[in-house]
Amino acid sequence: MSHRAGFVNIIGNPNVGKSTLMNALLGEKLSIITAKAQTTRHRIKGILSTEEYQIVFSDTPGRIEPAYDLQKKMMVAANSAFEDADILLYIIEAGTKKFDDELIGNLQKADVPLKVVINKIDNFQQDEIAQMISDLNQILPTAEIIPASALHKFNVDTILKSLVSALPESPPYYPKEDITDRSQRFIASEMIREKILERYAKEIPYSSEVQVEAFKDEPKILKISAVIYVERDSQKAILIGKQGAAIKQLGISSRQRMELFFGKKIHLELFVKVQKDWRTNERDLKNFGYDNV
Ligand code: GDP
Ligand code: MG
Repeated sequence: MSHRAGFVNIIGNPNVGKSTLMNALLGEKLSIITAKAQTTRHRIKGILSTEEYQIVFSDTPGRIEPAYDLQKKMMVAANSAFEDADILLYIIEAGTKKFDDELIGNLQKADVPLKVVINKIDNFQQDEIAQMISDLNQILPTAEIIPASALHKFNVDTILKSLVSALPESPPYYPKEDITDRSQRFIASEMIREKILERYAKEIPYSSEVQVEAFKDEPKILKISAVIYVERDSQKAILIGKQGAAIKQLGISSRQRMELFFGKKIHLELFVKVQKDWRTNERDLKNFGYDNV
């Protein structure tokens, strides 16, 4: 059989498990996952290659009504997911009572194969899932519908098989050893952001942006230095904590996360700087990489 390759764009509302599923499909903890909505700000590609096929997954920010400029950029990223896909992978949470009409409308218009994953079925009864499958069959008649649990890796192999069978014939788009289109620096900054989301409350995670300033891959150690930008002095104080206690813990958990991913000992330095109102400043957003999301 000749080689197959294509772009699979993962679409869905916030917090349904898009990043969890992409990571499960890849077998890598690439995209950051937390219990908070709007964790994913950028589109990030995850690449899965074998001798027979290559799937280029695209994890996108969940759709929301944008309230500030950063969120507008995030929605451009979310909406572009419809434009360049060979296959659309729509994730919906088990137990969803009200479907997102605008999103469903876009899916109905799409002219590529559509796979629908009902995720998080671990929390639900069989009959509830059966009802949801039949409802979705009504509104998306061409779609293949697969109940799954990304977290418990239930039916992830079924999803993968179904995607592979719908891939077009094509040579690979990326070198086989690549697992993402993003730089290691970017992945490192995302991992710090994941830990900020986990460890801090309220507006802190949403006001923080992480930039890796130095990334030195030495034979025995990876030396990373990063700056966390926040919007106000008060946020800087919270991030750092009493006598630096909070930032110290943030450093430790970020380093552990990176050591798992990069498979290497890591030396991590963190700095906090104030970049007033960066979320609404066009130039700051551009500098932070939100122009080509
Ligand atoms: P995204 O916003 O769509 O990318 O969602 P995430 O992948 O970040 O996941 C959001 C939350 O849902 C996290 O707390 C995940 O652990 C959780 N989650 C993802 N998949 C499952 C699942 O199959 N079952 C359960 N119970 N939780 C899940
Ligand atoms: Mg996500």
